[in-house]
Amino acid sequence: MLPATSSVSTRISSKRLAVSIFRISLQHNDTYAFRQRPVITRNQEVYQDIVPDMSGSFVGGASRCEWCEELLSKWDESLRGVVIKQRKHDLSVTYDGVLIASERFVAAYTANGLSGMVFRRLPDDSCFFAVRAVRAIEFDSVRRKTRFIDRCQYCGNYESVVGAVPVFLRAGSEVGEREIVRTDLVFGSGDEKHPLLICGSSAASIIASASLKGVDLIPIEEDGGSGG
Ligand SMILES: [Zn+2]
Repeated sequence: MLPATSSVSTRISSKRLAVSIFRISLQHNDTYAFRQRPVITRNQEVYQDIVPDMSGSFVGGASRCEWCEELLSKWDESLRGVVIKQRKHDLSVTYDGVLIASERFVAAYTANGLSGMVFRRLPDDSCFFAVRAVRAIEFDSVRRKTRFIDRCQYCGNYESVVGAVPVFLRAGSEVGEREIVRTDLVFGSGDEKHPLLICGSSAASIIASASLKGVDLIPIEEDGGSGG
């Protein structure tokens, strides 16, 4: 009754409507929110999506741990000076883990009564919003065997949190049909870290039918929490 191969990135289709929770997969928007853009060689361009070049110096005066330089409060930063470089995506993420929504996304969200997100218009790029899901649900890092690497003794954060997908959620986690939530854990290395976005079935249908660009919906299977 479950798809044999479940890690294929796919938009929602009628045969998958039975799945009730989805991960919203995001693409990079080729933008740095907290660093100068480094000179990216043609060779490195190929790898930017996997291991972005993080050699640019810090900008924007973001709050960081004095010891490990972890960004301590991305959502509270002003994001002054941030201009989205790859502008075609309606929902995307900067190389340093800031989730970004387009006006089209916000319009679809609002018109269809979706819930769970807050939007903050970028001060220097008014076509886009920093976006955050308010409510967090528990990711099951034990069953997923998520690895927590290099904990900072000073701020308590990990340099890397590896093992996000396929998604394992704690039993009992609930997501409203029209709700978008985030995982309580953030995944990735260094500045990249950000939570996964998870949504209910109606939200997934709405997002899919709005033909938003750069947004893929990946079903999360409910038996073992695997999926996507
Ligand atoms: Zn630290």
